[in-house]
Amino acid sequence: MSLETDYIIIGSGIAGLRAAIEIAASGARVTVLTKDRTSESNTEYAQGGVAVALSEDDEVALHEDDTIAAGAGLCDAEAVRVLVEDGKKYITELIEWGTEFDREEGHLMFTQEAAHSRRRILHSHGDSTGKEIVRALIARAGAIRNISFLAHAATESLLIDGSGACAGVRYLDPLVRATRDITARAVVLASGGAGALFLHTTNPNVATGDGMAMAYAAGAELADMEFVQFHPTALMLENAPRFLLSEAMRGEGGILRNADGEAFMRRYHTAAELAPRDIVSRSIVREVERTAGKVYLDMTMHSRQFLERRFPKIYETCRHFQLDLAREPIPVSPAAHYIMGGVRTDLHGRTTVPRLYAAGEVACTGVHGANRLASNSLLEGLVFGARAGRAVLDDAESYKPSKDTRYAAPDDDTTTNHIHHTSGASGSTQHGEIALAVLKRVRRLMWERVGITRTRSGLQRALNEFEQIGHARLRTVSRNFLSVATLVARAALWREESRGGHFRDDFPHQDDEHWQVHSIQQRDAQIASSAMINFEAESPVSVQR
Ligand SMILES: Cc1cc2nc3c(=O)[nH]c(=O)nc-3n(C[C@H](O)[C@H](O)[C@H](O)COP(=O)(O)OP(=O)(O)OC[C@H]3O[C@@H](n4cnc5c(N)ncnc54)[C@H](O)[C@@H]3O)c2cc1C
Repeated sequence: MSLETDYIIIGSGIAGLRAAIEIAASGARVTVLTKDRTSESNTEYAQGGVAVALSEDDEVALHEDDTIAAGAGLCDAEAVRVLVEDGKKYITELIEWGTEFDREEGHLMFTQEAAHSRRRILHSHGDSTGKEIVRALIARAGAIRNISFLAHAATESLLIDGSGACAGVRYLDPLVRATRDITARAVVLASGGAGALFLHTTNPNVATGDGMAMAYAAGAELADMEFVQFHPTALMLENAPRFLLSEAMRGEGGILRNADGEAFMRRYHTAAELAPRDIVSRSIVREVERTAGKVYLDMTMHSRQFLERRFPKIYETCRHFQLDLAREPIPVSPAAHYIMGGVRTDLHGRTTVPRLYAAGEVACTGVHGANRLASNSLLEGLVFGARAGRAVLDDAESYKPSKDTRYAAPDDDTTTNHIHHTSGASGSTQHGEIALAVLKRVRRLMWERVGITRTRSGLQRALNEFEQIGHARLRTVSRNFLSVATLVARAALWREESRGGHFRDDFPHQDDEHWQVHSIQQRDAQIASSAMINFEAESPVSVQR
């Protein structure tokens, strides 16, 4: 059965909620589909805060410079300017909508994070910033009658009409356990990142890059998929999730120590604990190899009262695992955290597929370049979510009713694409088992061969294995997972240098002469390079390999 709405948003994190609110102001019907419960997203787990140049000693030009410096030569200057300038406006609006950032004597409190030249990070309830933002945005969106939410509705593919424009989505209806189509005038992808492709990650299970796979299958261009940020400090305990120990802890003076108790970071970078994340992550891995022991984050210089007040969630979580933040250093390890690449967009969230828009972590606007500056992603989701919503409305006049709709799946093999979820109990169980096995294998390969340190042979082996796995009879959801893993590995193999979140052991240096370009991937085409992300400004031309 096919349903119909005016506009579809895929995802209920900061980008999706902000886009929905923007579009709904026009009176149009907006349907927000989300894979799990409405609050389950990367946004919900964001701890440290949101960067914005709002303090008295700060300027947007400084925020802009810091963002560009972190991006290792690949930031899109125009996109960064939009981020930092519009950021002030949209954060102010978020506060007006009831978001409670921490204050002291009525004034907003700003904390420090790595590679920021000013204290410019707003935070909520100490270390639960994302949760507070989601609360405020869901309250706002929930009060708008023309926004409806469809929770536990995992989108599998996009509907594409005869003119190549996006005309809706196919999703799994949780009630009847069958796929359903919804048609709409336009679709906004706000489905978040892909950290859960990796064995060790700070991301929740929903972050499997589905939006990237769906957009790719529909013919959209993806950019910079090789750039993955590994957060240096996730809790490292057997059989415990890789719970994030926020960068703000190092911002507040936290020290990394090796198994001998040595504070080792100065040996690797002059900024020590506040060096860029990729450098801290690799330094931790090296120290673990060198000492054959663990690395620890030491916060014992602070009083118990300070730690309980400043990092209540982290303090509690450590306590849950019988670790006392005030008395002992906490074992840490890097984990996949954020993907800089994604669906290529212009400055308004338009993708290269008509009537398909993207915002937030699923998108690649070029604001992060090869390495994201801490706390810039919540800001990106907010700013570009609103801008994508506006662009949807601006483009509405050019809308023409769709004809000859088909759905775009990761490959054109109809035997695999038409496996639905109505295939009977034993069929379902069998597919469920295959999907789980694929997931586990791919996540391990991504961690071991497409992770913090990459080599040509490792990447090639991962790609060969992905291809083998691809021959199995898989459902669209598993194919989406495999498709994103392949896109990351392929781009990582292509880029023969090291830059930002991409480190090749066999090409350990940054090579601006040959590689200060973005990778562009499109279905049925070789990887191309482009000088810019914004395709309105320049199209990719040169095919390198
Ligand atoms: C532990 C942690 C801490 C972080 N801390 C910070 C921080 O302090 N500051 C900062 O700026 N950034 C932080 N980040 C990064 C930041 O949270 C994310 O980049 C940002 O929230 C992404 O927002 P989004 O709206 O693009 O996606 P998300 O918030 O991830 O939302 C994606 C949505 O899409 C839905 N979805 C996914 N696939 C489908 C599908 N197939 N069908 C339907 N729905 C789907 C999901 O269910 C979810 O609702 C952190 C991330 C993590 C994991």
